[in-house]
Formats: sequence, structure tokens, C-alpha cells
Amino acid sequence: MGKATGFLELDRKDRTYADPAERLKHYREFVIPHDDGALKGQASRCMNCGIPYCHNGCPVNNQIPDWNHLVYEGDWREAVENLHSTNNFPEFTGRICPAPCEAACTLNIVDQPVTIKSIECAIVDRGWKEGWITPQVPAKKSGRSVAVVGSGPAGMACAQQLARAGHSVTVFEKSDRIGGLLRYGIPDFKMEKHLINRRGMQMEAEGVQFRTGVEVGVSVSFASLQENFDAVVLAGGAEEARQLEIPGAELPGVRLAMEFLTQQNKRNAGDDELRAAPRGSLTATGKHVIVIGGGDTGSDCVGTSNRQGAASVTQLEIMPKPPESEDKAMTWPDWPLRLRTSSSHEEGVARDWAVLTRNVVGDNDVRGLECVRVEWVGGKMQEVPGSEFTLKADLILLAMGFTGPRKQGMLEQAGVELDARGNVAGNVTDYRTSDEGVFACGDMRRGQSLVVWAIREGRQCARAVDEALMGASELPR
Ligand SMILES: Cc1cc2nc3c(=O)[nH]c(=O)nc-3n(C[C@H](O)[C@H](O)[C@H](O)COP(=O)(O)OP(=O)(O)OC[C@H]3O[C@@H](n4cnc5c(N)ncnc54)[C@H](O)[C@@H]3O)c2cc1C
Ligand code: SF4
Repeated sequence: MGKATGFLELDRKDRTYADPAERLKHYREFVIPHDDGALKGQASRCMNCGIPYCHNGCPVNNQIPDWNHLVYEGDWREAVENLHSTNNFPEFTGRICPAPCEAACTLNIVDQPVTIKSIECAIVDRGWKEGWITPQVPAKKSGRSVAVVGSGPAGMACAQQLARAGHSVTVFEKSDRIGGLLRYGIPDFKMEKHLINRRGMQMEAEGVQFRTGVEVGVSVSFASLQENFDAVVLAGGAEEARQLEIPGAELPGVRLAMEFLTQQNKRNAGDDELRAAPRGSLTATGKHVIVIGGGDTGSDCVGTSNRQGAASVTQLEIMPKPPESEDKAMTWPDWPLRLRTSSSHEEGVARDWAVLTRNVVGDNDVRGLECVRVEWVGGKMQEVPGSEFTLKADLILLAMGFTGPRKQGMLEQAGVELDARGNVAGNVTDYRTSDEGVFACGDMRRGQSLVVWAIREGRQCARAVDEALMGASELPR
């Protein structure tokens, strides 16, 4: 611990954002980072707890008190090393992780957690700026080859670890660019895409081959992967979106969030968005937009709609409004259920909870959405009599989550067993599927989750593959 009295002297002060009026004019990141002095102060607040709950709350078990200390001491280079010992891509998590570590921090008991995520982001950004983050080319090759299907954070972490262990790794990606949902899904204003390109280049220098525009199960067969590689890792994500099953949902103005978000990612990249738009170009400009679903995806639709110049944005959630703050005695150090207001919400949206959608109004296209209020009694949803209402709508974006991996194509061909939730069955010890030599990790195995969990699973799966191929592994779990 750098300073024993740091937490007594300083309050939590996190990074700030550019003004909404300004940031709504573009799609770039708008977080204003701390300077070194402020970071040192915030790092000094860490108490180096005997039992660091932050470290356990973090899915990749980042050694948080250690690098808080290093930042306080000004030893940035060692902090970069330490951070990368548990996390391949801290610049991703330092931007978009919901930070379960901060919820678990002892100082969160008084709502003053250490600004762990901001410190993480500053460490890795500094590492890149100083040129300290370079390719780690293995001293010798193993002579073994691995195919990784999917280039999201799980596939990328898995591929990087395996390449560093000396294996020849090929990543197959059906999209035209690597990154999974980091690339096509998560808006640029939350995470700019040059960060993925930079990691991709590092990985290529380490020996990873990326084959984009190749869908396993369509462009190449799953059997050919099994024939040509010593092991196969399935990291294809949980792409099956939950659909809206009410009358009128087939109207052209009812669209999946992913279609909407991906098109904007493509526009930002200077691409022709129509290449990924079988139903044509889609924007919220001048429209009354309703986003159904209260999670991350919904919030990203709100931010994107506002940047496109929507006439109004409303976000509906079927669950009741959570409490503004949690009962710490009940929840800490676990992740609490409480109201979360994202930067996109701050930019302007009407949010409503405990609302069930009943019917999309319109003839040739959407004109409105009929809803009814619900209450939850004994865990069961009941409609509130007489509470029906209709909202004006030109565009309805469906952001109601994902039901699991897509089964057509690769999974059908692989014939691997699925678990009760429809994800690829496999445990978190050896990550093996029911098929010999085939492993699974990330959202494809655990279902819709978080980037940090995908990185953890990718790393652990790489170790399991290495053990299976070589009999032992020095890769960390
Ligand atoms: C809109 C949105 C916003 C989100 N925001 C956040 C956030 O702020 N913070 C956070 O932590 N998490 C967020 N998440 C969740 C997070 O993005 C995912 O949990 C994470 O990306 C999962 O990583 P993955 O590598 O398992 O899968 P994915 O990122 O889904 O990557 C899977 C990849 O596999 C490819 N693929 C699939 N099948 C094949 C095939 N047969 N052949 C070749 N390639 C294939 C896909 O094209 C894709 O590129 C968000 C999710 C969405 C949808
Ligand atoms: S729980 Fe908070 S105060 Fe304690 S070691 Fe972790 S970051 Fe520091």
C-alpha cells in the first residue's frame, strides 16, 4: 500500500465525460482521462486489504492492490507487466467493463470504491503510448496447430495465449473484420475500433493467422477443421437474438438492435453499411424510436439513436424499476441489482419499467406500440387492469437479449452436445465439448455475458488446449 491514509484524505473522483451537447455530434470516445497526479491520488486510496475482495470480484482476477501500489509509486512499466499477467486486453475492459471489482471493493461499503477501472485503463493506455507493449513471440514452436472459430474477446484471448505457447493458431471469422461484438455491436463512442486493430497486429506478429470472411459450417466445413488442425476451439458467441412475438412485429420498422448497431459501426469505419444490411439501410434520423430492453444493448441503441438525430427515444423494460441504491449489508461484495444510468441515458431518453408490449400498430409500417403496465406478484407477472397505453413510434429496436449460440451451420455440423440453456456444453476446468479435440469458451459456452468473462474463458480454455496437446501447460489459468 502506497499511502496508509490515502482513503481518509481523498474522496473517490472518477474520470469525467465531455458535455452531452458536444459528444452527441460524433461517434468517438468522450471520456476525459485523469492526469498522472490525479491517478496517483486515486491509487493512493487503495487500502491493500488483507482479503482484497476486488481481486475476487474481478473475473480475470486482476491483481488490483498490486498495481494500485505501483501507480502510486510511479512504476508504470511494472504496472503494465502486472496488468497483462491476468488480462490480455485491459484497454477493452478499462473502457467497457461494468467493473464488478469496484462493486466488490471494501470502500464500496460507503459508496466510495477505488476508481479501479480508470486506473486499469490509464495503465494500459500508458503502456501503448510508451511502446512497452510489444509482440511476445514464442522462443520455440510446438509443432501443433489449433483452429479458433470466432474472433471476439474469447477467441482473441484464446488465440493469443495459444500462440504464445508456441502453437500455430488460425482464427476463422465470418465477418469482414475481427473483434466480434467489440467490432460490430458495441458503439465506437464506448470503444473505438483502432484498439482492436492494434491488438490484431500484435497477435499477427506473434504468429496468429486471421482468416476473415470465412464462416465455418458454410465457407469451410467443420470436418475440414478437424482434419487439418490438432484442436478446434469454438468461440462463436451467443448470436441468437430474442424475438418479439406480438402482432405487428413483422412490420419493416421493427428491427433487431444488432442490425441497427452494426450498420452504424460500418458507417463509422467508412464502409458501405448495405453490405451487412439485407433489409436495407436503417437509421433513427427524425424518427420516434422505441427501444425494447433495458440492458447494455438497449442503452447502446439509445446513444446511437440520439447521435443519428432521432425525434424522440423511449426505452422500455419489462422488469420493475430497480432501487436507486442497494442494501450493502445484503449485497456487498457481490454485484448488486440497482438502477444503472449509462452515459447514453444521460444524453436523453424516456425510460419506463414494468411495461409489457402487446401490439405493434401500423398498416404498411410502424405507427405506434400498444403496451400495458405489469406488476410482479410472487415472482409472477400480472397485467394491471386499465393500464393500457399507446406510444407513438416509427422505429422499434429489439434489444431483449440473446437466447444462445446460432445452431445452423457450424454447430449442426459439429454435433456437439448442448446444455439445458442451448449453449455448447463444457465445463470450466477443461473446456472440452462432447467431441474429442473440440473445446468451447466465451458466450458460446456460457451464454450472453461480458467481455471480461470472455477474456477469462479464452485464457483458461487456451491452457486446457495446451495441456491436452502437450500433456502439461505453463499458461496461467
Ligand atoms: C450491443 C452490445 C453491447 C455490449 N456491451 C457490453 C459492454 O459494455 N461491456 C461488456 O463487458 N460486455 C458487453 N456486451 C457483451 C459482450 O460484447 C460479449 O459478452 C462478448 O463480446 C462475448 O465475447 P465472445 O468472444 O464470446 O463472442 P462474440 O464477441 O460474440 O464473438 C463471436 C465471433 O464469432 C464469430 N462467429 C460465429 N460463428 C462463426 C462461424 N461459424 N464461423 C466463423 N466465425 C463465427 C462471430 O462473427 C463473432 O465475430 C455487449 C453485447 C452487445 C450485443
Ligand atoms: S478492495 Fe478496494 S481498497 Fe481493498 S485492495 Fe481492493 S481496490 Fe484496494
